[in-house]
Amino acid sequence: MLADNLAIVQKNIEQACLKAGRDPKEVTLVAVSKTKPVEMLQEAYDAGARVFGENKVQEIMDKYDRLPSDIQWHMIGHLQRNKVKYIIDKVAMIHSVDSVRLAQTIEQEAAKKDLCMPVLIEVNVAEEESKFGLKTSEVLPFIEEIASYPHLKVMGLMTIAPFVSDPEENREVFRKLRKLSVDIREKNINNITMSVLSMGMTNDYQIAAEEGSTMVRVGTGIFGERDYSIKEE
Ligand SMILES: *Cc1c(COP(=O)(O)O)cnc(C)c1O
Repeated sequence: MLADNLAIVQKNIEQACLKAGRDPKEVTLVAVSKTKPVEMLQEAYDAGARVFGENKVQEIMDKYDRLPSDIQWHMIGHLQRNKVKYIIDKVAMIHSVDSVRLAQTIEQEAAKKDLCMPVLIEVNVAEEESKFGLKTSEVLPFIEEIASYPHLKVMGLMTIAPFVSDPEENREVFRKLRKLSVDIREKNINNITMSVLSMGMTNDYQIAAEEGSTMVRVGTGIFGERDYSIKEE
């Protein structure tokens, strides 16, 4: 069943790409496995998933040793600075950098492990009160400030679009993020690639793929609804 879900999501991404004249290979599917047990992650792995998204440090630590080592773990949730040290050598990418202080901590912890951490800047495109992330206008100065950090590599931008009943409503949000990434790429800032656009979730990943997403983060569409009643969220 989980394998079927995965196949459906992949097929939908392909179709969205073809519709938009894009190569489906440009879009990485991040299987968002938060709150789900390792058995389900293993099932997704067996069906071909290799990139998993989690939003809690503790959960990454619990799952990390119990699953195959060729999994790429992506930290997609809000990250507290005092927890960076626990995941710095476990995750392949951090999607949620939204402050200079957090970037500094990642820089320091990555330096200790002698590695270079790929990161995305989280942008609150729709400027929702309830969400983390920089305003669109803050992103360029922010990137200019952290571009010189040697143990951190800014690969692109990430956004969590508003919850809407019709995913079409988010098309404009995705367009804005794409435009911002193109504008920043044109500045040719050293050490900044802007090759990744992490946007699109279960409700709107097809629209996001049509609008240039290179990473869609799909949880419910693969693993089913999450049950938060059994766990503190
Ligand atoms: C939970 C989560 C997702 C996946 O959400 P679904 O609607 O279940 O696909 C994607 N991105 C982030 C940052 C999340 O926290």
